[in-house]
Amino acid sequence: MTTAAAVLFLAGLALAVASWLWGPPLLASLRRLRVRRQPFPPAWREILRRRMPGFARWPADVQLQLKKHAQVLLAEKPFIGCGGLSITDEMRVLIATQASLLLLNRRAGYFPNLRQVLVYPGAFVVDRTAAGPGGLARDERRVLAGESWQQGQVILSWDDVLAGAADPGDGRNVVIHEFAHQLDQESGFANGAPFLGRRERYARWSAVLGLEFAALQQRLVRGETGLIEPYAATDAAEFFAVVSELFFERPAALAAEHPALYGELARYYRAHPLLW
Ligand SMILES: [Zn+2]
Repeated sequence: MTTAAAVLFLAGLALAVASWLWGPPLLASLRRLRVRRQPFPPAWREILRRRMPGFARWPADVQLQLKKHAQVLLAEKPFIGCGGLSITDEMRVLIATQASLLLLNRRAGYFPNLRQVLVYPGAFVVDRTAAGPGGLARDERRVLAGESWQQGQVILSWDDVLAGAADPGDGRNVVIHEFAHQLDQESGFANGAPFLGRRERYARWSAVLGLEFAALQQRLVRGETGLIEPYAATDAAEFFAVVSELFFERPAALAAEHPALYGELARYYRAHPLLW
């Protein structure tokens, strides 16, 4: 092989390796740029005006970002109706826009593990065999407003999605809750710690959230109620999902009563709903 041929061969090899390494993400970012450049359809804007009264009160830049993220989510994630439900634009837009709250400034991808969003007309019943005490298999039957699976599914009750969007200040939002579980599940089993990057961030995260979780359990033992609902004491994963709902829906109360927790969530979500 001549020197020129060798150089050409090596250059070709480098190009092949580069496109194998960066090709798919590059194509995805180009596709997303194209989607984000499209105008947000007026019919979708009307859906937000009618069904999500909190949306119009947020700053213009937050609204714009949410719409762009929602457009990408809608272009990439299939929505599937269950229990006889036919998926409409109203369902897709309302779910995607609320889920986009968790993405705002994070630049961490669009729920990369999420493959489908399944929607039931109302609360749905799940039958499953769970490991009970002593390793016994125990059949569970529960009525749920939502669920998030590590295999890439979020399941939602449309009634509960509507209720969550209709009252932006009650601290309850099934879309935020289930998509927070998806973030948690990106780094393996839901354990209350999403992917945080550097090791010292995990230490601070578990110190802050661990302390708040323990404090909640102590309050419940004493029979006290507070801002954070008792369901959050189930485990660390539910705690993260429930306080994420409060962070976006009752930021002032969360910051006043649990400032360290608010601060940690603000760092993670790269957002300050308190200022909106
Ligand atoms: Zn949950």
